[in-house]
Amino acid sequence: MLDILLSDSKAVKIASHPLATTNAGMTGRNASRFERQPFNDRNKMKTSVLFIVFLSALAFGGISKDELHPWKNQKKVLVLLLEWSDRPSSINVSEVEEAFFGESLSLKKFFHENSSGTYDISGEVMPWRSSSLKWEELSSCQLNTIVQEAWQVFSSDIEISSYDSDSNGKIDHLFILHSGRIRARSDMESPCVFMNFSKADHTAILQSQGAWIYGNHVPIGYYLHEAGHQYFNLPDLYGDHHHGHYGIGMWGIMGLGAWGVHNQIPTEDMFRYPSHFEPKSKEVMGWGHFQYIDSRVENVTLRPVETSGDIVVVKNLQGGENFYLEYRSAQGFSENHLGHGLLIWKGYKLVQADGRDDLNSGTDLGRNPTPPIDENFGDASDPFPGSGDVRYYHDQETGIILKNIRLEEGVVKLDVQFP
Ligand SMILES: [Zn+2]
Repeated sequence: MLDILLSDSKAVKIASHPLATTNAGMTGRNASRFERQPFNDRNKMKTSVLFIVFLSALAFGGISKDELHPWKNQKKVLVLLLEWSDRPSSINVSEVEEAFFGESLSLKKFFHENSSGTYDISGEVMPWRSSSLKWEELSSCQLNTIVQEAWQVFSSDIEISSYDSDSNGKIDHLFILHSGRIRARSDMESPCVFMNFSKADHTAILQSQGAWIYGNHVPIGYYLHEAGHQYFNLPDLYGDHHHGHYGIGMWGIMGLGAWGVHNQIPTEDMFRYPSHFEPKSKEVMGWGHFQYIDSRVENVTLRPVETSGDIVVVKNLQGGENFYLEYRSAQGFSENHLGHGLLIWKGYKLVQADGRDDLNSGTDLGRNPTPPIDENFGDASDPFPGSGDVRYYHDQETGIILKNIRLEEGVVKLDVQFP
């Protein structure tokens, strides 16, 4: 949503979206064969107005926040697989089912892990059905056409009440995955995922394989990142990544963590095994178990965030950004990060324990730094104590000291000291 709401004067920022831009090195093979429609200002306005109405409802409506929260409680999900006549599907229904509802690293599991059980999805994937339309003749971002076509092909066999947990006559979450694929275009793109459709509370349109020109699997990381913008207005945290500044790298999904958790993932895996949301994002979303600290405490304990949702917030009493502490352990979606231990965040900025700021000292490639690549998107000495065995952090600005940081019997412990 953030990307859509940006005014034209900020178009440069949209163009640098890692999820929406193309790798110059790949444009040859995937040369554009059809032109995208120009960004439609009227649609942009409409989307903005709808979003404002949504926000107002949150603020002033009689309905509780939780009822409007798209990612709380038990929700039902329906996934439709739509095949264009000129684009045979090449991903099995079982792989899509595994990506949405499977026991291991599925979207369901991601929500369970990230929300510490606050949000749970269940539902079904309806197998591929063919459209007589040709992807070649569609503008790729004609979401309305895609949704209408999917509904026409599937609706006679859909029992809406089976996917309507709040009994409002609409499917909770409708996903339409199609066999088309965006071809490279290096100009400005909108995320092109969400639309308002009368049959569902939330509708998302995705490629069945990858996002844009990247990845070959169901792009759950792309959905989650864009939904972070759309539903919670979360910011992009990947820095000026075309020029060697990676922001938070792969330590969070609003950064390069939408792609995966380490720099050597195969290109085809991009967007399939994303990183957790950042602790501050979880605070915005109302996920996790938060503990707030505003005075000296010893032996603060953090269980693995993947199983407990534990996040400690050390308040910045001078009014600046608070500190967010979490224990990223070698489990679930965090298993393949290059390091594990205590992550210290100042607001949305990651404090790198090694003090080297590798995340913002990369190579100026002048293009999307697509993995696998030797750039540093996060390493084993970013967490505390981590491979550098760093047990002490002193924030110069606030005088806050975090010390005796250690891993003990499956938890992180530390002492917090104020000036
Ligand atoms: Zn983004």
